[in-house]
Amino acid sequence: MTDVTAPSEARRILESLGIGADNPGAWNGSWLATKGPAIASVNPATGKELARVRSAQSAEYERCAIAAEAAFEVWREWTAPARGEIVRQLAEALRRQKEELGRLVSLEMGKVLSEGLGEVQEMIDMCDLAVGMSRQLYGLSMHSERPQHRMYEQWHPLGPVGIITAFNFPVAVWAWNAAVAAICGDSMIWKPSEKTPLCALAVTKIAADVLEANGAPPIFGLAIGDRNQVGKPMAADPRMRLVSATGSVRMGRAVGQVVADRLGRTLLELGGNNGIIVMDDADLDLALRAVLFAAVGTAGQRCTTTRRLFLQRGIAEAMKSKLVDAYRSITIGDPLAADTLMGPLVDTVAVDDMMKALDTAREQGGKVLIGGERVDRSGFFVEPTLVEATVQMPITCDETFAPILYLFEFDTLEEASAQHNAVPQGLSSAIFTLNMRSAERFLTAAGSDCGIANVNIGTSGAEIGGAFGGEKETGGGREAGSDSWKAYMRRQTCTINYGTELPLAQGVSFEV
Ligand code: NAD
Repeated sequence: MTDVTAPSEARRILESLGIGADNPGAWNGSWLATKGPAIASVNPATGKELARVRSAQSAEYERCAIAAEAAFEVWREWTAPARGEIVRQLAEALRRQKEELGRLVSLEMGKVLSEGLGEVQEMIDMCDLAVGMSRQLYGLSMHSERPQHRMYEQWHPLGPVGIITAFNFPVAVWAWNAAVAAICGDSMIWKPSEKTPLCALAVTKIAADVLEANGAPPIFGLAIGDRNQVGKPMAADPRMRLVSATGSVRMGRAVGQVVADRLGRTLLELGGNNGIIVMDDADLDLALRAVLFAAVGTAGQRCTTTRRLFLQRGIAEAMKSKLVDAYRSITIGDPLAADTLMGPLVDTVAVDDMMKALDTAREQGGKVLIGGERVDRSGFFVEPTLVEATVQMPITCDETFAPILYLFEFDTLEEASAQHNAVPQGLSSAIFTLNMRSAERFLTAAGSDCGIANVNIGTSGAEIGGAFGGEKETGGGREAGSDSWKAYMRRQTCTINYGTELPLAQGVSFEV
């Protein structure tokens, strides 16, 4: 264990990002004098309070929604490349603040510094991608069946977007949505996790400065509050033309039902239960490194964390013993220290949930190979844990947001694929093999049923250029690259008659 962050360093980071001891929790073009209960942001590495944020109540949410509608009416008139220029400047501002913002992510959420910085880099990459997209919001043109008619599709801004985010990516997930929604011409309101309010404040301050310097409308609204005061009103609000919600399956089910009831649109990015299949012919050293990062990185608190490892019988024992050795050497401690590989869990509830899941796993016949305990010190530290398991254990179908890796053995790829797919979630998956037939088979419709399928790469750490998201209970949403921007726009099919006749489609005749 390494030392935990000094309080003076925490103060320095907060001050450099303009965060005081007590902060308003909503922005709609101005910082609102929010009167809700204070949310205490806690450093998970020490268990101590970092600062407080006065939470937004439904009245402040309403003020944000009114402002978002007004901002949308102005913003949609800006050309898409002009909107892209604002996002370009946002990327520049993030580059200037990368070090401090990355440190804040580590301080408030607990991920190690290289991952905190990586998260800010992901925001920058996302902005850069969106700038390019702002000149590529293409529609198709079609040949009309009617003479002297022209038909094409165009994409219009959608309207205000509600963005609900989880604690584990406290800044990047906002950027995945906000950078793209902005170039598409949408305004938005961000409801971040109550566990990471300072990250949301810092990002909104940076974004607000960029908007103000350019005389742009306040499209990047913020309402920090709980699910009752902000989350539920947002889901029920018909002004929010899209609700993009990232979090647990339970949250997605609740939000999805409310939005569906008003026939609104959702983009759901929910929990995963990701698996890696390691074949007998795999490069085991490569597989080991990939499994370690994917299972232990972010202390197992990524939606794409590897939670299930399927080992072909011939290499199973060798791989298990390599893993046990590697787990023994993982340095746990202060996420801001250079030699730390694993920081704390986010809070004491997460630690309790992990311990309960391990008790259940033991009751169901699982055998802990290494780890399985709390680390005896202040903060919310646990040991990364390997559990020998069978697919008959119901607990292995659940996502426990902690560093537990279940190990299974199999004989054939068909058997492993079936076991891999036999969970309700469908986010990320991977196979390690040097056999082209096995690799390609895993990528067919009969192979992985996930939104992401990798060969000789772990399940976490996706690049922003592709569309990101998952199937089944993961919610079906897609964000980031490829054509994911279409979720933030409305499609319009236009047909123009430049002739003197009025022919009807399908040969219908209607003459009076
Ligand atoms: P969570 O579901 O507890 O909370 C997520 C957000 O939803 C928070 O802002 C919370 O306040 C809000 N919320 C909860 N219930 C709500 C309701 N009824 N109405 C409106 N808002 C509500 O999740 P968490 O613990 O913060 O994050 C961990 C979960 O997020 C994991 O399941 C993880 O897999 C998932 N996640 C998924 C992705 C993805 O892209 N698929 C990315 C990150 C995290």
